[in-house]
Amino acid sequence: MPKESDRIEQAPVVTPIVQSTTFTFPDTAALIDYQKGKRKGYIYTRYSNPTIEAVENRIAAMEGADGSLLFSSGMAAISSACMTFLKSGDEIVSSYPVYGGTAKLFDDLLKKYGIKIKYFQASDPEGPERMISSGTRILYLETPTNPNLQIIDLKRAARIARKRKIISIVDSTFATPINQKPLKFGIDMVIHSVTKFMGGHSDIMGGAVSSSEKHLRKIYDTRKLLGGCIDPHQAFLLDRGLRTLSIRMERHNLNALKIAGFLETVDKVKRVIYPGLDSHPQHKLAYEQLEGFGGMVSFDLGSRKRASKFADSLKVIQNAVSLGGVESLVSIPIWTSQYGLKKSDLDRSGVTPGLIRLSIGLEDPEELIGDIDQALKKAFRA
Ligand code: PLP
Repeated sequence: MPKESDRIEQAPVVTPIVQSTTFTFPDTAALIDYQKGKRKGYIYTRYSNPTIEAVENRIAAMEGADGSLLFSSGMAAISSACMTFLKSGDEIVSSYPVYGGTAKLFDDLLKKYGIKIKYFQASDPEGPERMISSGTRILYLETPTNPNLQIIDLKRAARIARKRKIISIVDSTFATPINQKPLKFGIDMVIHSVTKFMGGHSDIMGGAVSSSEKHLRKIYDTRKLLGGCIDPHQAFLLDRGLRTLSIRMERHNLNALKIAGFLETVDKVKRVIYPGLDSHPQHKLAYEQLEGFGGMVSFDLGSRKRASKFADSLKVIQNAVSLGGVESLVSIPIWTSQYGLKKSDLDRSGVTPGLIRLSIGLEDPEELIGDIDQALKKAFRA
């Protein structure tokens, strides 16, 4: 029998889940060194944890960032990152549309703390230049936008933010680091709801912020205080999703392009929005900025009644909010992401009553096209 001391030193192939809230120190001297910042370690999972840190390092490498921080949701990432750099009297200049939760954060919660918000249309390349003032602290961008898939010129936006010495933040959830790397264009900070494509299986909630060490150190302190840390088990599931992200995105991109192409052949479909189509008003910019055009496709069926009939007639594609999973989902924005908005805000978001948003999954594209085709026939018969 070999002795215990003869044991081979081994490592697991998969990042282990360290499901512990707290960590021991060998002695008080080590604890003091940790507290004084002389030695690295773990003290409490709200601060950091080996599983969470391993996944953060993987995301940082994907983004080309100094580091990343994980959060309990995309909204925890967005609110913590923004609140780190804002004080009463500051202003955010944001593209529009942005995810509904982000708009409510800016319009309702942050306004209560004396923070001002100004919006510009995402498709307007001169928007940031026009809107930024001496009080602007953050230029907040979401691209591609939800649900009308507009594209913001990141190189241009980063240039103006740097010139005016304000922090630029991009919510790149729809693109993932496979399709878009905002930091490469000079953007300061990239945020994802990893609940979507990065997790990829519609079974975890999470958010990520990637940036320079200087910014992350400050956001780390905010995360500790607001407490929006991710759970180690969620981080483990996220890591599993990240291992297949590039292959999944390849298929999402391919399937969505095929479906967008099919929809363009259907005369009765009024408007097909997909950055990969020549007909997209910003196709040239999308081609230059994105490595792939993504898994989201929107189109207009002209009326609320037809949109409902279409969604209700699908057999493979499921009617549910959210996006980015292996399964295809349909959503009617006026009843989901843009529910309750005034007509003027719907117009500003490019959301019409007949607009349909598809999150295209990894199924056989021919099966998806068949499903869409039969549902369109029923919708136009209604
Ligand atoms: N950003 C975008 C573009 C989103 O679509 C969402 C959610 O749908 C969020 C942020 C918020 O993410 P979470 O639901 O993980 O908080």
